[in-house]
Amino acid sequence: MKTLVDVLLATERYLRDKGVSSPRLEAELLLGHTLSLNRVQLYLSHDRPMTEDDLDRLRPLVARRGKREPMAWILGHQPFHNIDLLVGPGVLVPRPDTETLVEAALEWLPKTDDAVYVADIGCGSGAVGLAIAHERPNVRLFAVDKMHEPLVYTRRNRDALALAGRVAVLEGDLLNAIPTTRDIDWVVSNPPYVRASEIDDLMPEVSKWEPREALDGGADGLDLVRRIARQAESRVRRGVLFEIGMGQAGRTAEILREHGFSDVAFWKDLAGIERVVGGRRSLA
Ligand code: GLN
Repeated sequence: MKTLVDVLLATERYLRDKGVSSPRLEAELLLGHTLSLNRVQLYLSHDRPMTEDDLDRLRPLVARRGKREPMAWILGHQPFHNIDLLVGPGVLVPRPDTETLVEAALEWLPKTDDAVYVADIGCGSGAVGLAIAHERPNVRLFAVDKMHEPLVYTRRNRDALALAGRVAVLEGDLLNAIPTTRDIDWVVSNPPYVRASEIDDLMPEVSKWEPREALDGGADGLDLVRRIARQAESRVRRGVLFEIGMGQAGRTAEILREHGFSDVAFWKDLAGIERVVGGRRSLA
């Protein structure tokens, strides 16, 4: 009979062979997930015998990870800012860098009692908009994506956070998905911004599995930034905040200014890279 530690070591070896960067940690997470044990409990159970049933549940998960499917899809959720999001195949996994966009928005959004209308454009799992709405009871959110699959997760995440009363989930083309009768004060967006020619150079978890629609920003990566800024010019009352990639901050600032958002600011991510650019109307 195999014990838990035998299986742990075999799983670690398998994942290392497949090029996974933290094979020991991930082997522990997959075993813990299968057996409903946290990491401490796992250590205390090293001699526990593994049943055939345990192994039958573990094997497909390890096989998926060996093909470099994103870990968060296999575990089914991903912590982000102060919330936990359900994720799975078809939806971009929320990144720690994207918490910078949430922090920037929390800096700029007014903490008044009056409702503030925020649109999260290209919302994916809902990470950015839901994290903001979770922090700020005055926020009314439009969570928009053009793809159907991610919106299934957005709705589940909204409902799990008990935010259904003030979050509308809309399928459609950027700001056009929001009825023209509705006011929009702020736009937040983590658009696809990877240069099309660079997608295949990303790690396999991203390039082979995550939705290309959530990554591909065209030749210079800024196609969606331009389209959103253009639509925002006539519709958005206060300002727009974008997450962008390395080296795109200067050009994004120009685009925002060209569309009437003159008070521009930058926020760095934990690695010191300009990750968020915001522009707002000067109220003078
Ligand atoms: N930060 C993502 C990555 O490179 C890109 C996500 C995006 O295009 N918005 O993995």
